[in-house]
Parts: sequence; structure tokens; C-alpha cells
Amino acid sequence: MEALHKLQILGPAARDEPAEDVDLLGQPAAPPRAPLELRHCLSHATLPNGRRIPMLKTLLSSACEMDCRYCAFRAGRDGRRVTFSPDELARLSDTFYRQGIIQGIFLSSGVANGGVQTQDRIIATAELLRRVYHYRGYLHLKIMPGAERDQIAAAMRLADRVSLNLEAPNAGRLAALAPRKQFSDALFQRLRWIHELQQAQGRGSPSATTQFVVGAVDEPDVELLSTTMHLHRELGLARAYFSRFSPVPQTPLEAHAPTLPQRETRLYQASFLLRDYGFDVEELPFDGAGNLPLDADPKLAWARQHLIHNPVELNTADREMLLRIPGIGIQGVERILRARRQATLRDARALRQLGVAATRALPYILLDGRAAPQQLTFWPGA
Ligand code: SF4
Repeated sequence: MEALHKLQILGPAARDEPAEDVDLLGQPAAPPRAPLELRHCLSHATLPNGRRIPMLKTLLSSACEMDCRYCAFRAGRDGRRVTFSPDELARLSDTFYRQGIIQGIFLSSGVANGGVQTQDRIIATAELLRRVYHYRGYLHLKIMPGAERDQIAAAMRLADRVSLNLEAPNAGRLAALAPRKQFSDALFQRLRWIHELQQAQGRGSPSATTQFVVGAVDEPDVELLSTTMHLHRELGLARAYFSRFSPVPQTPLEAHAPTLPQRETRLYQASFLLRDYGFDVEELPFDGAGNLPLDADPKLAWARQHLIHNPVELNTADREMLLRIPGIGIQGVERILRARRQATLRDARALRQLGVAATRALPYILLDGRAAPQQLTFWPGA
């Protein structure tokens, strides 16, 4: 089979893996303009530095010996399996790069002959790209379950980003989701190694991400977000991706209900509160079952509980408290801190001039000791 035909099978197979091509709320970006035959293999990615690029996403192989209970490529499920040789994929990718069709590559794979051999083939592809074809574009490499520490170090020398999918928030949930994967040894330990290697390498080392499948084994949000907070704070994880479960025919979970898209969005919003806004997981507005409300973003739900009767004086509050006010983001806080050194903030117009979503913020703030008049809104503020 020719390489382009393989890509038309393996590219779409990688589309379900969220990566740089999902926005802050987990929405996939529309594919860029691309040749028709590559439409389903390309996506619009936002790099950690904010640059937008067309990215090729593909698997090296759809053959897999694992039996993750939700996955279309699980061992034993019918379906055609296709595999690139490292040189085939490296040459094809480089051709697209030189033609200006792509500026980045995301490379994952099913597991065949163990995680170590699969990782070898991913590294071999990346080495060919970098050293033989002199590819200078962005490269995101997947770390396989059970990969060796030296292999991870080699992948990190070649990649701009590496990722390892935890899939589930803890060993118990993973056993129900992916029985052949081991949470602590084969997965979590590899994230620790990535962190150690990042520290040894210092500035310029590749960033790391992970992915969770959401809603397949009834894990509550609090479990997903507790693990996410640990990964951000202890292992310097750049981002956790949340991939909502969608049942695949002829898998053990084919009759399980799909996860609502709103749940995925709320998890992303909550993970940013943990990573960037100083919230602890215990502060998030979980219900009795440990799930976030779906009808309001978690920052707004928190403010409704804690700020509605204790509004924050915008002219004196510290940075940490300003970050907790709905409608005020990280840049908005910096602008407020600068502006109030020059003059007292007294009305909603001054806030709007600073880029603050004043309508969202006004119920929770005081301006020079007074609540600002609010317009009635019919939007619940999701
Ligand atoms: S390791 Fe699991 S999720 Fe990945 S391709 Fe194999 S069966 Fe699917």
C-alpha cells in the first residue's frame, strides 16, 4: 500500500487524541485549508508559544495488543490494521513540510510487540525526520506505556512536546478501563521520569501533557481533578487533556452512555483554575457525587457560593483574590493592578476599558466601596 493511502487511514485514527489542536475549552480547531486528500489528517494547532500552525496528526500503526475497553483499535476487534515503516512516515511528513502544507507533527501509535519496541519505532521516525531529512518543524511524540527511561530521554531530545496518556485518574479506574495497562509502574512512573529529565535538561526541555478518558468507568470529576492538580504541582505537567467517552461498536463499552460535551468543558475550566488561578481541588464546587455543575463554569459557581455576599473591593484586593472574580482573567488582573496605581477604579466603564468582562464581574465586586449598577441579564453565565 502506498504511504499516502496509509496516511488516509492512520491520520483520521489519531484525530480523537486531543493535543495542540484543541482550544482552551477542549474544542477541536477546524482543519486549515489543505489538499482534499489530507483534510482528515491535518488540524490547526496552537503551540505553547501561541503560534498557530497546520499540524499532521497520525498513528505510526493501528495494530495494538492492548485491550482498552473503549478503543476502536483494541486487540481482537475486527478492522484493518495498517502500519508505516519509520522511513515511510518520515519521508512523507518531510515532503508535506517542504511543500508548506504542515509545520508540525503529532505522532502516536498502537502498541505492537510491547511498549519498548513501539517506542523504538517512534524514536526511529523522529530521528530520521530530524537527522536525515533535517525537519525543523514542531514535533509532539507520544510516550508508550512501559517505555524505558533512556528511550524517554531520547524522545525528549528530538521533540518539542512529549505526552503519555494516563487514561484514568488512578489504578482502580484504569483496571476497569484498560486492564492490560498498569497505572503506577507503566504509566505514572514514566511521567515522573519525564519530570526528572526536564529538570536535568533545564530551560528549553520539551513540555509534557497527559490525557484522560472521561465518563467511561463512572469516575467522578473530583478524581480526575485531584490527579490533575498533583500532576501540575508535583510533576510540572503543562496540560491535562480530557477526552469525553463516546461508545464504539464491538467494544465492551458499546452500550455505555456517551459523556456530555459540557462535562469535558467544565473539566478544562476547572483544570485551569488549578493550574493558573490558585484554586485547590477541595475548593471546587463539586456536588455530593464529586462532579462539577454543568450549568455554570466552576469559577462562577464558586463565586456564587463565596463572593455574592462578600464582594471584593477591586481597588485593594490582592492578586490571588482578583483571580477568583468571574470575568477577570490573568491579563485582566495585571491590567487592574497597573491601572489602580494611577487612579481609583470607580465604574464599569473603567473595567471594560481594561478588557474585563464587567457584566460577569459586577455582582462580585465593589468599586471604591460601592456596588456598581448592573444590567439585568438573561444569560445564566455558562
Ligand atoms: S493502547 Fe489502548 S487506547 Fe491505545 S491503541 Fe491500544 S487499545 Fe487503543
